[in-house]
Amino acid sequence: METIHRQNFVDSCVSSDGLKKDMVPRLRKGDRSAKSVYIVFECSAQLRKSAIETLKLYIDFVCCRVKEYIEPMRCYRCQRYGHLASRCKLKEVCSVCAEVEHNHNECKWQGQEQCTNCKRDNNEHYHRADFWDCPAYTKAYEMEITRSTLWYPPVTGERGTLVEQYVMAWVLRACNQAGHLLMYVSPARDAETYIDVTLATSKASWHVLNWEVVEESSSDHRLILY
Ligand SMILES: [Zn+2]
Ligand SMILES: [Zn+2]
Ligand SMILES: [Zn+2]
Repeated sequence: METIHRQNFVDSCVSSDGLKKDMVPRLRKGDRSAKSVYIVFECSAQLRKSAIETLKLYIDFVCCRVKEYIEPMRCYRCQRYGHLASRCKLKEVCSVCAEVEHNHNECKWQGQEQCTNCKRDNNEHYHRADFWDCPAYTKAYEMEITRSTLWYPPVTGERGTLVEQYVMAWVLRACNQAGHLLMYVSPARDAETYIDVTLATSKASWHVLNWEVVEESSSDHRLILY
């Protein structure tokens, strides 16, 4: 960590000790026999911003590429995407057999593995809920990468970055405001997100100031009232 600090952060306001606290290695990804590996760090929002801007980190003589690690949140209790087990109010579902009220360690199921998320979506579901190629995982991942801090989700994903570039290129303004209700709420899918963004030219944006997202709606996308 000291090398990383000396080679990358000496001129910044981040101290070596600060960096140790702010940039914590969490995961190692990739093939162990391969020449390079991916290290996933958890870091502060400030550090994340500067790392994403420079897109590289020098370690000894190697220049490492930096990119955002996107992993949709899956609850280890009910297996659904979009929340953590610590906030789960649903029944425990087994990641191996998709039955309720036991976990994979207690599972006595001898038959084919089943994924509760794909079963609910009427998709091919004969795999574990944590299977790397699970269609429900892909769907959750795609929702994750469409986010952008421009319209107030906590992080910007890959697709969110593309939308941001479009917004900048056309000198548009995102009218979403902090504190607005979540725009997409689907209890059936247990998904909540700020998936919709209201864009306007800067002149027109003054006319769309007083709008709000209201709770009643006939679909899982909420209504916007002016
Ligand atoms: Zn849950
Ligand atoms: Zn089970
Ligand atoms: Zn699945």
